[in-house]
Amino acid sequence: MPGFELFSDLERKEVHDVLDNGVLMRYGFDGMRNGHWKAKELEAELATTLKTNHVQLVSSGTAAVSIALASAGVGAGDEVIMPSFTFVASFEAIMMLGAIPVLVDIDDTLALDPKAVEAAITPRTKAVMVVQMCGSMGHMDALQEICRKHNLLFIEDACQAIGGTYNGKPLGSIADLGCFSFDFVKTITCGEGGAVITNNPDYYRNADHFSDHGHDHIGNDRGAESHPFLGYNFRVSELHAAVGLAQVKRLPEFIEIQKKHYTILRNALSRIPGVTFRTVPKGGEESYAFLNFFLPDLESARKVNAAFKENGIDACFHYYDNNWHYVRKWDHLKNMKSLYPISTEVKKGLEYLETKTFEQSDHYIARNLSCLIKLSWTEEEVKQRAEKMVECVQKALS
Ligand SMILES: *Cc1c(COP(=O)(O)O)cnc(C)c1O
Repeated sequence: MPGFELFSDLERKEVHDVLDNGVLMRYGFDGMRNGHWKAKELEAELATTLKTNHVQLVSSGTAAVSIALASAGVGAGDEVIMPSFTFVASFEAIMMLGAIPVLVDIDDTLALDPKAVEAAITPRTKAVMVVQMCGSMGHMDALQEICRKHNLLFIEDACQAIGGTYNGKPLGSIADLGCFSFDFVKTITCGEGGAVITNNPDYYRNADHFSDHGHDHIGNDRGAESHPFLGYNFRVSELHAAVGLAQVKRLPEFIEIQKKHYTILRNALSRIPGVTFRTVPKGGEESYAFLNFFLPDLESARKVNAAFKENGIDACFHYYDNNWHYVRKWDHLKNMKSLYPISTEVKKGLEYLETKTFEQSDHYIARNLSCLIKLSWTEEEVKQRAEKMVECVQKALS
């Protein structure tokens, strides 16, 4: 991660196909496109890669989450359980539908704690959304069982985990619906883009129509198509899809590189007493997009993070102190700072955030550092980096 590091002639060729015939739209223009259907081809390629029946390509990962929820009928006033540690897109996507994000603790997988999920279920709960943060996953069997028992929709945000698996199944393909992002920094990039995947034909049809103004996509005359329900424009362009099409074919190569770099760094750090690693559930295989490790306490994590910055170790994050990924700094959500009025129902639904504490999440996130694994490093660079990281950690812990 990120895939842009290794752009090659493969991406250039796919983009040129689109520029050569001038059709940037993914639907229609049949006579002009010279047989090029990049979005459709990317959907087919993703269906094979992710071992799923249906893929709907959309404009972003954030859109994918909104569309996944909407496709299964989640909307106004419904509660959606989500983790305290994720990207802000999770609650944005829920609130766009007038639904209520219910934040709960994570465990040492850095994903939803099944016990916290079960404790948060109310008669208004409609869905549980696990976010497979930093290339790994939550306890999928336990979470799936809770959803079955309580008849809840199960959604998997695998935006940061493409290429990871659980019991041999691709992450994103395990829940009722899976969401992916192909934004500029993801392992597979389109520039901007995302996907909803599912084995449910009804959810898929809904996602297909909803992401294109409600068009039913029957026949090949867009003007004559009907609109079974209201939609919006969450389409991806052919240019974006072209980049992704070249990239996704290279996923096995990217994962292999990530794993190699990750392993060198992890082996080096694991020699240090006091350093531990996140739990990967039994049967799980990470995508190796990030290496996450724990230090003994908040103070040592802050020290190591500062030492990394001083010593040029870039792309490592202490999420406890950053604005994007952890509930601690989500003041705009807690204070309900919205451009447009939020419904009384959602306001009431969010009141719990004024007082709720996340001690168990703090326990993990305060001590966690998360290092992005780059694709473009040479083996020599990774080894030097490993040495420097070990020095920084040892010094901070001494
Ligand atoms: C990147 C990301 C998103 C949002 O994807 P965009 O394509 O940037 O909208 C959602 N969830 C997670 C976990 C992400 O990392």
